[in-house]
Order: sequence, then structure tokens, then C-alpha cells
Amino acid sequence: MEPIYEGKAKKLFTTDDPEVLRMEYKDDATAFNAQKKAQFENKGKLNKAITLLMYQMMEEKGVPTHLVSDVDEVNLMVKRVDILMVEVIVRNLAAGSFLKRTGMAEGTEFKIPIVEFSYKSDELGDPLINVDYAREMEIATPEDCAFLKKQALVINDVMTEFFLECGMKLVDFKIEFGKDSSGQIVLADEVSPDTCRLWDATTGKKMDKDRFREDLGGVMEGYEEVLARLEKARG
Ligand code: UDP
Repeated sequence: MEPIYEGKAKKLFTTDDPEVLRMEYKDDATAFNAQKKAQFENKGKLNKAITLLMYQMMEEKGVPTHLVSDVDEVNLMVKRVDILMVEVIVRNLAAGSFLKRTGMAEGTEFKIPIVEFSYKSDELGDPLINVDYAREMEIATPEDCAFLKKQALVINDVMTEFFLECGMKLVDFKIEFGKDSSGQIVLADEVSPDTCRLWDATTGKKMDKDRFREDLGGVMEGYEEVLARLEKARG
């Protein structure tokens, strides 16, 4: 079967139910707007398992997601949603592109989390935008943006607490949202070490995609350890 959509890390397939899609997690890894590419055995499996666990936990905390059900090692059933073309980034500690933009030292803790929007466009390299841009680009209304920010901060609270329980600092993350057929905005896409920066709370060891970005080695070992810790905490 041909996917209806193929992205950098996942493929989407239709199912018998028009409201449900099958999302397959791939082993492909990309960084720096796909200028750096690699394949990691088991990445799809690990990211699927981590996203599933995170989404189940979020649903329990009252955060709606596009998750429908688990399928197999690399597939989830998800609600068909219209993905908003706005990516939401939440930052708790300074890292990544924030350092380049500001010159601040890596690991500086923010007094209050920073919420950012970027335009979901590979062509343009996901540029930073704001509420006014989103309004004029007609990709999200100011009301949508207010909801995205509020919900991203709720998600940040839920995730920060859970990762800390697992001995990890949630440095920053990117999330995407989609509108379902009833117009409700739900968390969609993945929540994994591809999209979150996670540092060991004691040693500061990087356990996420920065291991690939910065050629630190042991990329999948980092992801495996994240999953093992999450599973242990979930019991
Ligand atoms: N991120 C992502 N996809 C993107 C851009 C960023 O998942 O297209 C994640 C990234 O892994 C990090 C957070 O969002 O956890 C903030 O990324 P940043 O803006 O610092 O950009 P990067 O350093 O990844 O270029």
C-alpha cells in the first residue's frame, strides 16, 4: 500500500475507517533541516513506543491527543486531523537554536518557560514566526495561537514532572497540533527523543537527537534508556 503522506520520520496510510490513519515510524533520522541524514536500527520502534507511552499518560492527565490505538512495533492508529502549519516549541533551559539566536550559555534555566511558534515548512527551514505572522499567513487565528500556547504550557508541566520522575531534565521540545472533524485541537505527531531534548538529571548526559546532531555516538542507546526509564516509571 502506498502512503498518503511520507515525512522525514513517519509515513501515513489510510485505513478502512475514513476517520483513522495508520502512522508508521521509520528508522530514518534527519537533522539540520535534512542536511544530515542517517538510519538507525530500531529508531522507529523506540520512538513509537515512547510516543505511545507519552500520549497515554497525557490522555490520563486530560490532554487530548490524536492517538486511537497501538498496532504493532512501528505503527499506531491515529485520528485523521488537519495538521496546523504552526510548530510549537517550549523551552525550559537554553539549548539549540536559542543559543545561536541569543548567545546565552547552554543550560541556562529560564525563570518562566519560553513558548515559540515556527512555520512548518521544510522549504523555508521552519522559520520562527509570531501570532501576527500566523494570522496574516492564515495558518492559525490569534484564538488558535492563544490555545496552542496555553496547551503547550500544560503539556510542558505534565512532561517536565514525568521526565523528572524518570531522572531526566526536559530541556525543550517541539509539538504539533491538529484539528479533528469536530474542530477540536488535539496534540498530534510524535513526542520522542527526536523532538525533545532530554538530559540526565544528575550527570547532564544528553539522551536525545543531539547525540546524532553533535556526533556524540550511542544515539539509540540514549533512546533505549529513555524508553526503559519511562516504562519503569509507568510500572
Ligand atoms: N525540534 C524538532 N523539529 C524541528 C525543530 C526543532 O523536533 O523541526 C525540536 C528539537 O529537537 C528541540 C526543540 O524542538 O527539542 C527546539 O529546537 P531548536 O529550535 O533549538 O532547533 P534545533 O536546535 O533543533 O535546530
